[in-house]
Amino acid sequence: MNTKDLALYLAILFGFALPCVVFSLAKSKIPHQDLQTEPTLFVAEEKRFVRLKRDNGTVTEIEEAEYVLGVVLQEMPVSFEEEALKAQAVVARTYTRRKQYVAPKHEDADVCTNPACCQGYCPPESYGEKGLVVSDVEKVRDAVNETGNLVLTYEGELIDATYFSCSGGMTEDAAAVWGADVPYLRATESPGEEGATYYTETVQLSLGEFQSALGLNLSGAAEKWIKNIVYTTGGGVDSIEIGGQVFSGTEVRKRLSLRSTCFKITIVGDTVTVTTKGYGHRVGMSQYGADAMAVGGSDFKEILAHYYKDTQLEEVG
Ligand SMILES: [Zn+2]
Repeated sequence: MNTKDLALYLAILFGFALPCVVFSLAKSKIPHQDLQTEPTLFVAEEKRFVRLKRDNGTVTEIEEAEYVLGVVLQEMPVSFEEEALKAQAVVARTYTRRKQYVAPKHEDADVCTNPACCQGYCPPESYGEKGLVVSDVEKVRDAVNETGNLVLTYEGELIDATYFSCSGGMTEDAAAVWGADVPYLRATESPGEEGATYYTETVQLSLGEFQSALGLNLSGAAEKWIKNIVYTTGGGVDSIEIGGQVFSGTEVRKRLSLRSTCFKITIVGDTVTVTTKGYGHRVGMSQYGADAMAVGGSDFKEILAHYYKDTQLEEVG
């Protein structure tokens, strides 16, 4: 090799090849914490990973597609229509990435397996226990793979893709449940959910149990305790006066352990009857409503557009 060739070789090595190698290493070894500070949704990774905190507190890193598969298997009945499962996969992926890049919840993990905190997750070792067979898992895996890297955004930002089991016929405004207005989480009709387990539920309590749960000690005609009920746009109870004290619907739901804030209370004699419609906070996508839409011929894009107003479905690798 003469001097000219050597100079050219070194120029290629250091000018092009070496930076490529360095870039390649940087890509594969980029610390997860750095990814959280990425200003955009785009991350130069072929495979995405999720730091998942298990019930026992251990944190493991698993492929995003495997995690989303486990979430859909845990959060939605596998008997649901393929398009509903696809909608759930997009929602689970969007929820996860928002927790990674926009609104972190845990210091040491992106998400946890507690459904009350983040999303439920069914690990492969629990398939048998859950009664899942190979065809079930493959059905959901197809829904996950066919939605690729699709996520929901609003004005360029990953949305807070909340979801729940059943609305009872109408979903709720985010503001009615959490106090803050979210433009894409609006009350909307959700027909066809009548087959859901908790479409309606009736519980009965004694007057004593009812008062104790609400921290009340009332007297007089119990039939007249309930007054001035204010309803939300989604048909839930915004506020209710019970024995002269005003409660929010969410407070009553919590204190009486009700399925939703869409409730009706009647008092006859010593018996308080509470009938609820729906199950969950009722904000975002109704899973039973999504399945009903799919049965009616809607695809996952139409389902998502219905429950998350004015959002965009974007493919983000
Ligand atoms: Zn969590």
